[in-house]
Formats: sequence, structure tokens, C-alpha cells
Amino acid sequence: MTVTATQPPQAIGWKGSSLREMLEESERLFEETGRYHGIEDLTMLADDPIRYEKIFSRLRGGMVNARETALNISASPIVKEIGELCFALYTPEGDSITLSTGIMVHVHTMSDAIKWMIRNDYEANPGLAPGDIFCNNDAFIGDVHNADVQNIIPIFWEDELVGWAAGVTHVLDVGAGKPSGMPIGPVNRFEDGWILSCQKIGAHDTVFRDYELRSETAVRMPWYWRLDEKTRITGCQMIRDAVHRVIEQEGIDTYKRFMREVIEEGRRSFEARVKQMTVPGVYRSPQFTDVPFEGEQELPPEAAKDILMHAPMEVTIGVDGEFEVSFEGASKWGMHSFNAPPSAMQGALWVLLTQTLVPNDKVNDGAYFATKLNLPYGSWTNPDNRTVSTTISWVFLIPSFVGLFRCLSQGYAARGYLEEVIAGYPGTWNMSQGGGTDHYGRPGAWTNFEHSCVGTSAGMVKDGEAACAAMWNPEGDMGDVEAWEILEPLLYISRRIRPNTAGMGKHRGGAGWEVLRFVWKTDDQVVYNLGEGHVFHGMGLFGGYPSSTGYRLNVEDNNLRELIEQGRPIPHADHDPEDSELLRLVDGRVVKDNRCVHLPTPVGEYDLYMSMLRGGHGCGDVLERDPSAVAADVNEGHLLPRFTERVYGVVTREGEGGVEADIDATAERREQLRRQRAERAVPVSEWMVRTRERVLEKDFIYPVADMYRQSMELSEKWAGEFREFWELPEDFRL
Ligand code: MN
Repeated sequence: MTVTATQPPQAIGWKGSSLREMLEESERLFEETGRYHGIEDLTMLADDPIRYEKIFSRLRGGMVNARETALNISASPIVKEIGELCFALYTPEGDSITLSTGIMVHVHTMSDAIKWMIRNDYEANPGLAPGDIFCNNDAFIGDVHNADVQNIIPIFWEDELVGWAAGVTHVLDVGAGKPSGMPIGPVNRFEDGWILSCQKIGAHDTVFRDYELRSETAVRMPWYWRLDEKTRITGCQMIRDAVHRVIEQEGIDTYKRFMREVIEEGRRSFEARVKQMTVPGVYRSPQFTDVPFEGEQELPPEAAKDILMHAPMEVTIGVDGEFEVSFEGASKWGMHSFNAPPSAMQGALWVLLTQTLVPNDKVNDGAYFATKLNLPYGSWTNPDNRTVSTTISWVFLIPSFVGLFRCLSQGYAARGYLEEVIAGYPGTWNMSQGGGTDHYGRPGAWTNFEHSCVGTSAGMVKDGEAACAAMWNPEGDMGDVEAWEILEPLLYISRRIRPNTAGMGKHRGGAGWEVLRFVWKTDDQVVYNLGEGHVFHGMGLFGGYPSSTGYRLNVEDNNLRELIEQGRPIPHADHDPEDSELLRLVDGRVVKDNRCVHLPTPVGEYDLYMSMLRGGHGCGDVLERDPSAVAADVNEGHLLPRFTERVYGVVTREGEGGVEADIDATAERREQLRRQRAERAVPVSEWMVRTRERVLEKDFIYPVADMYRQSMELSEKWAGEFREFWELPEDFRL
């Protein structure tokens, strides 16, 4: 039997063309002219700027309205509490016109997903009609990881497709072998859980019953999955309505012209901004992150090794505002879940640019068209193997891009825009997750998204702010304690600012914070930690220090229950690792180490779990910090007293509202510290000679040697630069 379509597909593109033809034409025009759709003059903007701005504002308002309405439909605390969702509007070819606030990293990932459907002729099969609903969470198509689930709907006007609306939320569980949305442990894609590759899941504005039934068994908490899906679809439909209203009032030709111009305007304003704010040149900022998997019993032997990720970021800025980011020399993809496909990397670049170079302009895919991103094939940024795991691509992605802020800040400083300088962003760790039987006796999995509130970094003119943002969701919120306690079988004992989490400097980073929780009403539970434990996330800027790295601290099989029953003092925090309140007040089996990325470990009721949220990086020399600001840091709980003199050279004495700086003694102490620095300092030329000997002898610990070996094998260019820098023989290999 042959199955044939009842009628040939009707072209739904403009002027009788197919979507694929439209996409190819758009790409050809950009290739030939360097301008979006080849647009030369922004005639609409020039002739009727007020109307143009009004259309933009109405569309943009439609996005924000969709997001604000939709997040109240969701029951998932990740969406409802911290706003981990985002909506965007696209051209027929999948280029973003405007977007809501939220997890903006996805504005470009969803663009990739739409283009993937077009390139795969979805127009012919499975077909594209008004009311269709698609779902995607495939990072190799257009996503960061499969916990970020997207719904995409086409928008029609009469018989033509005039665009797409798309929305994304981060879900609580992805149905992987290990619980949670971002399980640690998968070593290939087949262990990543449920992945939908731009699947058609509905028609006529109705989700297919077979898909709904499948979701019942595909993930651990289908009720959250369904509500999150309703959230996204509702938002998309609201966007479709907003577009229809604009077309009704302005006319379809105006709308079509507008979408082209607004993206080209976005591209031009990006270029103008680069020219205005930075100095042309090559900027470099390598980053590393650690995965201490050696000894993980559950992993296959080839995966159970210590790993260092290498992200040698290079930013090249041209005299006409050309902007290229390259990861040439990045290490290889691996048998872990931290591989990041190109779509994830492109999304990250985009979301960070909106927080630095283009925070005020009409943000859309114009910025994408104005930038180039080089992701070496075979590296963790662009795996040459489609079966790799990507459940937490963020683990490498977040540290790797911190260099972008650093590079841009050097450009701003060189140009004189000192107030724009920022020393990077901290990792959004510790990310706590877990799962098992929850406190209601149901199967459950959780990710606590309070890590969307880490400290911000210092600038050249100000300190960072405590506990307030995430690089992937600049509008993040930590969520209410009570909301997390509904989701996860852990009770909070406290949430408080954690001293010494922020990088020190003339201006210090914003503080991180600490949470102490204990397992409640279940003995069937596993927990994870996630974050750097052996390396720093960034380096600080212009002499400022990086923020602290992390450690894991659990107290298992403890006497907390007795302490509570007997009415004796219970711990509220770890606070100071050299004098831990937690370890002073509780007896039990202490798990304390730097294995901050590990497979899930079982815990029992009353087991204590400490989570330290990171602070921002510092900027400028510590010895230049205002002594009274250092005293205030101690009084406000941002700095442990013993570090005032040791690090800042600030001598304090007891004053009325806490400690105060002794200005004369401080001047003397700082003079002494400066002398010590001069005595300890070694000329770079001497240091290089000494270090070169180590390089020649390959005197590296295994993860470092393995990392450089991968980089050298993958990139002849990077290997050549490495050999040249250290004056190594031509045949030097690791
Ligand atoms: Mn996510």
C-alpha cells in the first residue's frame, strides 16, 4: 500500500514561495550585502519614526504581557517563582524580531529550531497550518539542554505564514535514568531522558492526546510537565493575537516591512555600539572548569576521570565594528553531560551581549547578524558526535563565557567608558538538585533554582550587589523558601549572606549566600552538588580577586533530630570554614571535600545539606579599597574580620556600630604590604624561564596535561601558538 498526501502541499511562504526558498533567499541577501535582507535604507524608520517605534512597543509589550500572564498559569516553582521562561516573535525564516524578558538565552536557540524545521521541509511533512503546535528540547537542533522545553507555533495571515511565536520554560524532570532536570551522570544522549526534536504535538490549537498520554510516563512529574506546556502554549497564542492586532491596524505590508527593518536596525546599532564603546584589537581570556569524576563508581571506566575544560576565548574587534568570538583551542567533547552544541553557545553569546554591549537598544537577532562565533568542530563547543550527552551544557558554557565580560571591559576601559566595566559574572552555583520519593510519598525530582541569585561583580566605579542575578536570566529571583519546600523534601533552616564569597578588590564583588537544609520525611532521596571546586570561575579584573570557589558539605547520620527534640541549639549555617557553626553543633558523618560535581548520592531523613551560592568578582587593587568600606564589609557580614588586615591591609578597632578603620595604622600596614609585594615579585622574564622548564618536562597533573593534549590535537593553530609562546621544539606533544 502506498500512502500519499491527499493534496500537494500549498506554498505558505510569501509570493507563492516555500519557507525554505524564503530562508535561502534571506541567507543569500545577507551573504551578498552584509545587511539583513539586503536592506539599504531604513525607510520606514526614516519616514515615520513614531509609527515605527509604536509598532515595536506594541509587539514588545505583547511579549512581556505573554510572559507575565503565562507564568501565573504554571505550577512549577522554577517558572512561577523565579520566572524561568521567555517568549519571542520570529520572522517566517526564524529570525527574532522582539522578545520578552526572562531566560533570554533562548531567543536564538528557538531561532535555530525554527530554521531546522524549515530546512527539513516541515512545510510538506508534517505540514504547517494555523493552530499547529510544535515542541522541541533537542540541544543539537536549537536548545541549551533538554530541560529547556520549547513550544513553537506558526502565525498565519490569510494564506501566508507571517511568523512564529515561541516560548520556553525550564522543567523539573526530563525522564532520565537519574532524577532531576539536569542529571549528572549521563555519558551519552541515550541516557539524557526525553528528547523531542521539533515534534508536532498538536493541531487546531489542541495538544494531541497521544502526546499527552506519552508525557504521563515519560517524566517523573507529568503534572508539572503538562502545566508548563500550557504555560508556553498560552503565551505563544497571546503573541499570535498581538501580531494579528498589529496587522489589522497597520496592514500586512507595513508589518512585513517592519520586521525586516527592525532586525537590520538591530544589526546596525550593534555595530555602532561596538565602534563607539571599544577599541579595535584582539582580546583574550582563557577559562577553565573542573569535573572531578575520578573514582565515580557508577561511571564506565573511560568516563570516570578528572577533567579540566579548556575555553581559550579570543575576541577580535575590527575597525568597522566587526565582532568575532573564537574558541579555537577548546578541549574535546567528552563522556559526560557537559557538552554544549553550537546552538547553546550561540544563545549564550547572545544573552551576554544583551547584558553588556546592547542593553538598551532594540534587542533582536540583529545582534546575531552582527557577530561571528567560531566553535571548533570536535571540541566540547561543537561536538563531532551527535550521540554525546548535553543535560547540563551550562557547566562548561557558563565559565567559558565569563571571559567575554572581561574582554569587553578591557575595551570599555581603553575607550574611557569606566562606568561600563564589570569584572565578569560568577558561576550560578551551587546548583542543588535531587530526587527519589518526596515528602508526600510520590516519585519526585527537583532542581532548586535559587542559584539564579548569585552576586554580581564589581565594576571600576562600584561594588557588586549581593544575591541578585544570573548570567542566563538577568531578571532572576531566588524564590520563596516555602515554594521550594513544597517541591523538595528538604526543609530550610536558614538563608543568609555568606562572607568571603565575593572577590576582593578596590571594588569588591557582591556577596553570595548560604543555605542550610535538611532532608525531611523521606529516606529515599539522592542529592547532587554542582559548581567549581578546584578552580576559580573567573580571575577578577585589573588586580581584583576572583570570587571564591566552592566545596560540598553534608552532615549525614547526625543527631539533628535529638537536638530538636531536646530543645538544644541547632546550627543555622556553616558561615566560616575555620570555625563552622554547623560542625560545632552537630555530630554525624561529615562529607566535606571539593567534589562539587558528582553523581547523585543517597541521603536519609535529617541529613544536613549546605549549599553556598557564589559571589561576584573583584575589580582593582585590594590595597586601594577605601578603609571605611572594608570596615563596613565586616559590619555587614560580607567579610570575615581576619581578612581585613591580611588581604586589604586595613587595621580595625572596635567602634560604636562595629569595627572601624584605623587610618594611620592602615597606611602603615599597606606600606608594609607593598614592600612585601615588591620583595616577593619576580620579573615575568624569570618566571617564564622557570615555567618553561616545567612545560618542557611536561610537569603537569593529569587533567591539565590531558586538557592541553586535546587542545593541541584538535587545533594545529592553537598548538602552534602554544609552542611559540613557550619556545618549544616543533615536535612537542603532550
Ligand atoms: Mn535550562
